[in-house]
Amino acid sequence: MSNAANPNVDPLELAKFGALAARWWDPTSEFKPLHDINPLRLNHIDKLVGLAGKRVIDVGCGGGILSESMALKGAEVVGIDLSEKPLKVAELHKLETLSKGKTLALDYRLTSAEDIAAEQPGRFDCVACLEMLEHVPDPASTIRACAALAKPGGWLFFSTLNRNPKSFLFAIVGAEYVLQLLPKGTHEYRRFITPAELSGMARQADLSVAEFIGMTYNPFTKVYRLGNDVSVNYMMACRKFG
Ligand code: SAH
Repeated sequence: MSNAANPNVDPLELAKFGALAARWWDPTSEFKPLHDINPLRLNHIDKLVGLAGKRVIDVGCGGGILSESMALKGAEVVGIDLSEKPLKVAELHKLETLSKGKTLALDYRLTSAEDIAAEQPGRFDCVACLEMLEHVPDPASTIRACAALAKPGGWLFFSTLNRNPKSFLFAIVGAEYVLQLLPKGTHEYRRFITPAELSGMARQADLSVAEFIGMTYNPFTKVYRLGNDVSVNYMMACRKFG
């Protein structure tokens, strides 16, 4: 389905990622934070799901940092996004990795969570939707679609930014203006989602919330960590039962 026919998308958000796409795999670029957190989130997901041999969908996969890393762990991965350029970059990077002799079961598709959920309900052991919900107009609709994509017993992971004065200071003022880790305008505060709101959306989609895990960045040591502090960046793990 085309973007015009899909109400749950903000074309300006897609354009932001399209404009930066060529630098997606440059670990020193605007995407450095995604490269830095990827091993942490990948290992955490792998620990809970056991990715090898599992069917996984990465919703809002962008240039494929997480998708490709999950495929390298032996998962059969579908990456979807509605921004064309990042998907092309993801596809090219996949070809480069294959040319190095690696084996990957990895397919990228230009589609929305809602559309692929209508097409392939209940197909995936694991649904990842990371750093994406704060860019869509209706995150609850995305979560419902992710829930529909999961098999009974499947795992779902959502990460986003909390909404409070500290997250405004760290994720916008700090990351975009002071440290300039991200381009100005990357995030809009009003689209940040609190853990209470996110778990409410999950429950509305008949998911059971398994855990919240915080992702913190120490600007002095430049080290990212997973832990209990969900005040800025965090990930929610859910299961679909029944
Ligand atoms: N999940 C990836 C990329 C995060 S960047 C990672 O964590 O590494 C956010 C991505 O969400 C961008 O690639 C953007 O194009 C995508 N996106 C934004 N709105 C979307 C929508 N409505 N449907 C699908 N993808 C969307």
